[in-house]
Amino acid sequence: MSLRNNRLTDQEYGQQFSDIHPPFETRDAALVEANRCLFCYDAPCTKSCPTSIDVPKFIKQITTDNIKGSAYTILSSNIMGGGCSRVCPVEKLCEGACVYNLMEEEAIPIARLQRYATEKAIQEKWTLFKRMPDNGKRVAVIGAGPAGLSCAHALSRAGVAVTIYEKESKGGGLMTYGIAAYKVTPAFCEDEVNYITSLGGIEVKYNQELGKDISLDTLQRNYDAVYLAFGVGLTRQLEIPGEHLEGVADAIRFIYAIRTAGYPTVSVGDKVAVIGMGMTAIDAATQAKRLGAEEVTLIYRRTQQEMPCTTAELEIARLDGCRVIWLATPAEIRGENGKVTTLICQVMKLGEADESGRRQPVPTDETITLQVDMVIKATGQTPFEQLVNGHAIEHHKGKISVIDKSVTNLTGVFAGGDCVNGGKEVVDAIQAGKDGAKEILQFLLEKQA
Ligand code: SF4
Repeated sequence: MSLRNNRLTDQEYGQQFSDIHPPFETRDAALVEANRCLFCYDAPCTKSCPTSIDVPKFIKQITTDNIKGSAYTILSSNIMGGGCSRVCPVEKLCEGACVYNLMEEEAIPIARLQRYATEKAIQEKWTLFKRMPDNGKRVAVIGAGPAGLSCAHALSRAGVAVTIYEKESKGGGLMTYGIAAYKVTPAFCEDEVNYITSLGGIEVKYNQELGKDISLDTLQRNYDAVYLAFGVGLTRQLEIPGEHLEGVADAIRFIYAIRTAGYPTVSVGDKVAVIGMGMTAIDAATQAKRLGAEEVTLIYRRTQQEMPCTTAELEIARLDGCRVIWLATPAEIRGENGKVTTLICQVMKLGEADESGRRQPVPTDETITLQVDMVIKATGQTPFEQLVNGHAIEHHKGKISVIDKSVTNLTGVFAGGDCVNGGKEVVDAIQAGKDGAKEILQFLLEKQA
């Protein structure tokens, strides 16, 4: 057993990594679903969307073939509405809130309808937004991920000239580098970033890393305001013996490699254990299987009731042939000749509930032994501590502290998205970017007065 790459033919890689949620094949198919919508008053689907997209309105516009209007309705609330239609956990959000669920009928496929409208806008490069005349203000944004792009777009629409500094060679952040390719392809991410920046007034400087190529002090001196949206970093350490062995991988690095280096070059084991049960864990597990691993086992220390991923995501993993071991946590990784051979897990049981009402897992005396040649860690990401440590910016455990939504303790420095909340959904980051832009505009106005 050993890690290997180039396991499949090009055609097989193509099939394994093709679009998991294909778009509507015909206009009629989209219209049939759009016409099922009840256009609810005080629509629960809209209320459950972190960016408050007016769902009944955009669906109504689809029924009248006003696709441009529909795309505008979506994108004016969420400029990455195209990407969100592919990666949002809609079962927990809009579709989970659809009134059809109460009638025990299939919810309206809101995400697919959203994709139907936004995909056209991006493909046809529709000009839906115009910038206000340049107001002479300049803002620097750190990170071209969802929060940074959303903030930059809103600022630019208001006439501010924005410069985004991005440490990678492409924009999109987590969307481009951290999500399974069968959910959203790198090509789509690039188109979406280009569509957002085509508004004008947004310059993106790639391969520019905060703390290395640029400093916060310089940006504060050269711009009217700075918005920090640099996301979160690598996966948390397991802190168990054997973590250094060859074959132990970080889920974020694993997905990053698949998205940047191409499927055939990424090595995967025959027997893979994935630690964690969030969206990243599911993405790592399903992609390991699709890269040719024979066995993939997800290991989670709690039960299905407490898992952070959605039931739909768990279903994808199960359909891909991944198995799950609930109530187990890694205790030791053993190896031979420096390579992983065995994972020992402690069996857990649910104990008392904490203040949040969640029953806490406690270890039992039992263990499970798994013969594996790869262990992928997907136990949550740690903040980019080095970016905030040593700066005068207030932070807690590496997450930037904000007063209200995005105001930091430094005058003119704002922050939002994962670097503040520690890692939430893409759609939350987009709303954070909108909130940041609003507060920056208010700050610029007050500064001028
Ligand atoms: Fe349409 Fe469902 Fe939203 Fe009602 S809750 S407006 S039926 S999508």
